[in-house]
Amino acid sequence: MAGLYIHIPFCHSKCSYCDFYSGLRASAAEGYVDALLTELSLRRDETADDFSTIYIGGGTPSVLPTGEISRIAEAIGRLTDMKAVEEFTVEVNPEDVTEELLTAYRRIGINRISMGVQSFDDTLLKSINRRHTARQALEATRLLRAGNWNYSVDLMFGLPGQTLSAWQNDVNRIMQINPPHMSAYLLSYEPGTRLYAMLQTGKVTETPEQLASEMQQYVTDAARAHGYNHYEISNYAQPGFHSRHNSAYWTMTPYLGLGASAHSYDGNVRRINPANIKKYMASLSKGVAIAECEDETLDEIFNDYIIAGLRTADGLSIEALRQRFPEHYISDLLADAAPFINGGELVVDSSLAIPECHWLKADAIMRDLLRV
Ligand code: SF4
Repeated sequence: MAGLYIHIPFCHSKCSYCDFYSGLRASAAEGYVDALLTELSLRRDETADDFSTIYIGGGTPSVLPTGEISRIAEAIGRLTDMKAVEEFTVEVNPEDVTEELLTAYRRIGINRISMGVQSFDDTLLKSINRRHTARQALEATRLLRAGNWNYSVDLMFGLPGQTLSAWQNDVNRIMQINPPHMSAYLLSYEPGTRLYAMLQTGKVTETPEQLASEMQQYVTDAARAHGYNHYEISNYAQPGFHSRHNSAYWTMTPYLGLGASAHSYDGNVRRINPANIKKYMASLSKGVAIAECEDETLDEIFNDYIIAGLRTADGLSIEALRQRFPEHYISDLLADAAPFINGGELVVDSSLAIPECHWLKADAIMRDLLRV
């Protein structure tokens, strides 16, 4: 089974930490959806399987009129067996969530909502240029609960000026709400973002490692106490509610990605669309898909497996590596991993995994395991 990702590159405004590809011209929505539908028909055959998960992300898909989301769903339904679709997620922002929107989504066949809340602290929300308020986020979660939705809430920690107690308030709030799924991301300063420029000019400072680690520990402990399974570095799920779509990325399952800047992976080759709405739409209006193949070496593919697998509680399956790579790749990996295994920062049986208590160091551990 494969996944289908659809990128909607429109937002009401730009959050200061965000490096996702998005523009502010939602007026182009109809033409953009036309291009998406053309691309879907041209590229459907890249994955032979039916889709088991669909994910409409962005950007902010909830800025699109529901009629446009409906057009996308109908087009997918003409090309795949919708009964095989286990999970159909759409990303929303709190300020867009209304009863009407959720009713329309349910009618379209969407069965999971992923909502970017980031914080329940209005001062912090303003500091990262989010448009919604804490009150709007609470109202949106109320509607999701009232509608008995399968939904996920994203939070961020390590925001500029965020104290441990402010983070604890956010975590305590989300535990009271008790969503089926939650993500908690440590803020990263990505080049090209407004926040990165502020860091460079000394207007903000990065959260000290010790504080970030205490924040991570607090959410991990609270989530465990409330029955969540911490199944990936940043993701927590109540039993049965892990994200099927994102889990497929971490196990290198094929997926088709449509839309400006979207990535695809057919099990062998990665393809990437240009991060340019105009160029994307111009090409599709002539009936030409322009996703470019990334020429990955075997070493790079192996590195993709390491980076994806070591983010998860299940870890990197040694058997899956054996099926795909020469034996010396696995023996080299285990040799590089030995110091970490001896130090308890990696464990190995049928998989190689980073224990939860060392997940904040995951990037540094992975760096030493990559093939160069
Ligand atoms: S709404 Fe989401 S995609 Fe849009 S700018 Fe903010 S974080 Fe980025």
